Amino acid sequence: MNSLLLIYTGGTIGMMEEPTTGSLIPFDFKQLQDNVPELKRFNYHIDVVSFDDPIDSSDVNLSHWQKIADIITVNYEHYDGFVVLHGTDTMAYSASAISFMLENLSKPVIFTGSQLPIGKLRTDGKENLITSIEIAAAQDADGPIVQEVCIYFESQLFRGNRTHKYNTENFDAFESANFPALAEVGIHIFYNHDQLLRPNGTFTIRKNFDTRVTYLKMFPGITPAVVNGILSIPGLKGVVLETFGSGNTTTDKWFTDALENAIKSGIIILNVSQCNQGFVAQGRYETSSALNRIGVIGGADITSEAAIIKMMYLFGQELSPAEVKHYLGLSIRGELSENYES
Ligand code: ASP
Repeated sequence: MNSLLLIYTGGTIGMMEEPTTGSLIPFDFKQLQDNVPELKRFNYHIDVVSFDDPIDSSDVNLSHWQKIADIITVNYEHYDGFVVLHGTDTMAYSASAISFMLENLSKPVIFTGSQLPIGKLRTDGKENLITSIEIAAAQDADGPIVQEVCIYFESQLFRGNRTHKYNTENFDAFESANFPALAEVGIHIFYNHDQLLRPNGTFTIRKNFDTRVTYLKMFPGITPAVVNGILSIPGLKGVVLETFGSGNTTTDKWFTDALENAIKSGIIILNVSQCNQGFVAQGRYETSSALNRIGVIGGADITSEAAIIKMMYLFGQELSPAEVKHYLGLSIRGELSENYES
């Protein structure tokens, strides 16, 4: 019999309305279980570990990621797969974080949640939970079909570090604009076998992050005060520069100089596009040529969410600046495409 571990962290799926304010607040796993009697009908052994204080995922921080990674690591040998119930707001960040923390996974870790609480009649939570369990339990002759960190939501399984929450209203809340779905779910579950990751070494947990990073988002009219203010944050080690189109910025000299000085002082800058789909190609336009010259790293087709988490992760691994730059340009967990046209 397959055995699975469900990790309940909170999120809308388990929320109820607070009686006086009407605001949604996280609730315990018991009410979730009461609303999904189907859980008892699975032919699997399913255990549950719940956060003592379930959270709205907007409150997630490093300690929660470490807790999730620890729970998976301690139980790694005892279960065939893991399902993490998590709020949707930061699920793309958390799935990215866990994907970097757990190196050489050979078992499925499926994040899911819902847009409507499980107690609501029209909830999307039941299907998301039930299918996530199916996927976490799915095996073929070579073992688990999925051996990586994914998000399952509204009939699609995505690589977690490729996702972006793009819709607050629809049940279809996530997209993976630069990477195909790993499974499409209808009457049958069709896996995209060619794209599924496989480990190439022993399973290792890496828990350290360094949060001395930030975003710098381009907008027409951005001022030296904003750029210099961000780049002079004490101790800053890394910046995810959110650029226009295929990696372009203003060519104003003050801007290029500010970036160049920051890079000379040791700050690493990664260029990520504000567009959801496509990739950064520094030098395609004159408006990104200077970035190549001063040493900004092109982020290819990585999402903004995965980019900031990857920086925090790499800075936490006691690597040299040259090594951090090297790994930022490479796919370490399938988070970017190395072979894209530039
Ligand atoms: N605010 C909620 C959360 O992220 C939203 C959700 O779960 O859909 O926890």
